[in-house]
Amino acid sequence: MAFVTRGAPAYGAVIQRALTYLAAIAAVGALAIALALTAWVLRIPRVETFLLIFVLLLGAIAWRLGRGPAIAATVAVAIISDYFFITPMGLFGFRSVSDVVHLITGILVALALIQFVTVSRRQQLLLRRRKDLLQDVSPRIIQSLDADEVLNTVAEATLRVIDYQHFRLYRWDEASERLILVKSVARAESYEHTDWHTLTLSLGEGITGIAAQSRRPFLVPDASVDPRMVYPIGTTRIPESIISVPMVTGDRLFGVLSLARMGARSLSDEDLRLMQSIAAQTALALAHAEQYAEAEQTIKALSTIEALQLTEAGLTDTEVDNRIVQGFVDLSQADYATLRVLQADGRYHVGATGGRQWPDNAAPVGGPLTADQVAWLADPKVTVYVTDPEGDTRLPEWARRGTQLAGVKAGIFLPMRAGPRFVGFAGLYWRRPRWLRPEQLQRLQLVAAQAAIAIDTRQALERERGRAEALVEQERARREFMQIASHELRTPLTVIRGYASLLEEGSLGEMPPAAQHAIRTLMDKSDEIRGQVERMLLLARLEDGAAAQQMTELDLRTVVRDAVERVRPQVALKQGTVNVELASAPLTVVGDPERLATAVDNLLQNAVKFSAGPPEIEVSGSRADGQVRLIVKDHGIGIPVAARGRLFEKFYRVNDPELNNVVGTGIGLYIVRQVVEGHGGRVEVASQPGQGSAFEIDLPVAREGASGPAQPAIP
Ligand code: ADP
Repeated sequence: MAFVTRGAPAYGAVIQRALTYLAAIAAVGALAIALALTAWVLRIPRVETFLLIFVLLLGAIAWRLGRGPAIAATVAVAIISDYFFITPMGLFGFRSVSDVVHLITGILVALALIQFVTVSRRQQLLLRRRKDLLQDVSPRIIQSLDADEVLNTVAEATLRVIDYQHFRLYRWDEASERLILVKSVARAESYEHTDWHTLTLSLGEGITGIAAQSRRPFLVPDASVDPRMVYPIGTTRIPESIISVPMVTGDRLFGVLSLARMGARSLSDEDLRLMQSIAAQTALALAHAEQYAEAEQTIKALSTIEALQLTEAGLTDTEVDNRIVQGFVDLSQADYATLRVLQADGRYHVGATGGRQWPDNAAPVGGPLTADQVAWLADPKVTVYVTDPEGDTRLPEWARRGTQLAGVKAGIFLPMRAGPRFVGFAGLYWRRPRWLRPEQLQRLQLVAAQAAIAIDTRQALERERGRAEALVEQERARREFMQIASHELRTPLTVIRGYASLLEEGSLGEMPPAAQHAIRTLMDKSDEIRGQVERMLLLARLEDGAAAQQMTELDLRTVVRDAVERVRPQVALKQGTVNVELASAPLTVVGDPERLATAVDNLLQNAVKFSAGPPEIEVSGSRADGQVRLIVKDHGIGIPVAARGRLFEKFYRVNDPELNNVVGTGIGLYIVRQVVEGHGGRVEVASQPGQGSAFEIDLPVAREGASGPAQPAIP
């Protein structure tokens, strides 16, 4: 009872205590009277078995009322013993040694029983109290959804049940297969000066490692003499008791809970059982917390990936790099993070740094990696995750040196590849040993893959944009040149043509007949050049969206007749013929007369040019299928099948050695198609190599009274 009433108000307690003594003595008195009556009734003079009955009573008193009252009762029994199990002599008049032995034996047995009862009673009360405490803390451990909070609650709750001096909670890191200390609570000076976090343990290493490996709890009564104990370097051993209990649910090992209490044998098996219960609940709570965190982390990873999809145009390199680093830091809570990216000079520079712990100005600024370093990082076998960068022999010397300088205790190297291209790598580092689940690592790798794509895409876009800009510039320069060249050619040509015709007319004096012919050729050739120049000018105009067409309603027959008249001299020169067959009714279309004329000119000139012998050209104009149809047919060399698909491309000419002496630039048919399509029409070719070609142009018929603007879009 002493245990229960400790700390009650003094006065009441004294009275209560006195009452228990009275009750004990009264119980002895009552039993004595009952036994005396029984002896008298049954006429038993000396009943030694009464001693046994008294001893049992004393045991019961000890159980109910505690040790003090039981001892008082024992004294009472001794006093009245004369009358029950010693020959009645009154007042301890022992007759024999045997009487004395009787009494002493009886008292000793009673005292032993009292002691036993008291101890077990106390034990039971303690147990009950601990059970109550445990019941009290369990829901708090289980309720929490945050792993850190679980650990705090466990450390605190354990303290309420076991008065420890050092609490250590290790988590099992599946990736590195080591036990990593994640929580340490020191409650005595001798534990405060040691940095336990520097210690990571493999399975079977130290009591903690042994507990993890065997999945059984361990009690070390005196750790100072136990060779299995492993301490951080520089720790002085002190006598202490240690309990190490693995945290396991199902098959999975979560880690190990270790408690230390100063003094050899200061922790008991009972404490061990309590710890087992706490450890089991902790494992459950951690499993819950982990599931919750998994879900949260997945959402985070997805939003990071989403942020890297670069839907926003115009993000700069630095912005993309920063986003990537930020994503990694959010996901991993890294103390330091670096992102190395392959840059235009073909080397890997630091693109961005992040994390919570970079000391001012200490973040790397971007010296490029050496070829060795790149080779190591790009190797697909590279260890991505290291718990102990300083000691890990898988790391090359330079990586170890770097991490050592920064005081890094755990690191992850995440290579980033876009297809076969090694676009860079992210380094995440912690100053404390870290543990990671494989799922977390996979998520980081997923983000790395997405980051690689983001970097690659942006670089590709950048290259593409550069190329496109160069092309536009080239095109502009080409057109400008075309414009200038055409103008510069046109003016002197007009002068040459002018003088030539003055000479031919004889306005400058009589020409000898031989010169007449020369002058004629001069005029023809300058006409030819002029034609080419006109075509180039038109081409420049066609490609310059700014130059509008002069649309008007016109009769295509007029355009065709004029064009035929222009080509006749060339046909005549080669002794050929041109047959024209035009519908009797007007072939009205809406168009630019000048451009349409150029298109028809080109077809006619080709018909002349590509006829080996005297050209025989047939031109027809009619209405067909609601269209105005113009056909220019020749009986010339024809066009090979392979060339037909590309015939209307700019600068395309059929690659035929026979055509080497035929002048041309390959823009004629391109212009024809541009003009025709600009009028909402289409052009097609049919040809039999060796027999001739027929070009057919279809243009929409002008609606009655319609003119100009209602026509198709301008190219
Ligand atoms: P160019 O006449 O200046 O070479 P074009 O664009 O007018 O350029 O014609 C492209 C090519 O198409 C010509 O080089 C020629 O090989 C082929 N071609 C055009 N018209 C005919 C035709 N009527 N008969 C045979 N080949 C032709």
